[in-house]
Amino acid sequence: MTSLLNELRSDIRFVEGLNACMSCGVCTAICPAAAYFDYDPRKICLEVQSADENTLKDILSSEEIWMCGQCLSCKTRCPRGNTPGYVIQVLRRLSQESGLFVNSRLGRQQLQIKRTIGHSILETGYCVHPRLVKPELHPEQGPVWQWAVDNGEKLFPHLGSNYYKPGNGGVRQMDSETLAELRRIFEETGAIRLFEKIEKAMETAGSEVVSASDFK
Ligand code: SF4
Ligand code: SF4
Repeated sequence: MTSLLNELRSDIRFVEGLNACMSCGVCTAICPAAAYFDYDPRKICLEVQSADENTLKDILSSEEIWMCGQCLSCKTRCPRGNTPGYVIQVLRRLSQESGLFVNSRLGRQQLQIKRTIGHSILETGYCVHPRLVKPELHPEQGPVWQWAVDNGEKLFPHLGSNYYKPGNGGVRQMDSETLAELRRIFEETGAIRLFEKIEKAMETAGSEVVSASDFK
């Protein structure tokens, strides 16, 4: 069986993203996520370089890998030309593939992201479509959002959209050919398979990890 370390090393984003990190900490100094969270890209690069399978499992189970905002500021400043943000991309993918994401609260949010943004793309062609932004999952939208969802057909055309109608314009209804093409892209790139893995891992982990607080 392929080890997680081998999986990591075979990913082009890891090959391109981390080469002889000298642990100088410039990436952490420039990282906006490090300013707000208990997050340190320098430390992650150091741990990954230890080439220890158990250390890697701990990283894949951690909250940290989900804190990066993928701004890639680290790419512009690293004196060794490394891109910790790419390393994070691989770690996230490995965490999803291995099912270790269920061990962290932020990792478990993968399920809801998959069921919202992922499904929205497949069903509507949009990452975020007003019809699929459920009020119960987005309290930050305020109480008016339920009204906006219930009255979308009247409201959104006032904002210049072609709300779920054929033709051109924002949040229009995608034709079946476009949606079929999107699904084929998801199938060919392995996204559908990954979606199924995320569902399965969460199901196996049990109901205690699927609570409303996980999705806040
Ligand atoms: S800036 Fe580059 S060399 Fe320095 S710690 Fe970050 S990844 Fe390593
Ligand atoms: S890509 Fe991630 S690690 Fe790099 S600077 Fe942005 S938030 Fe920090």
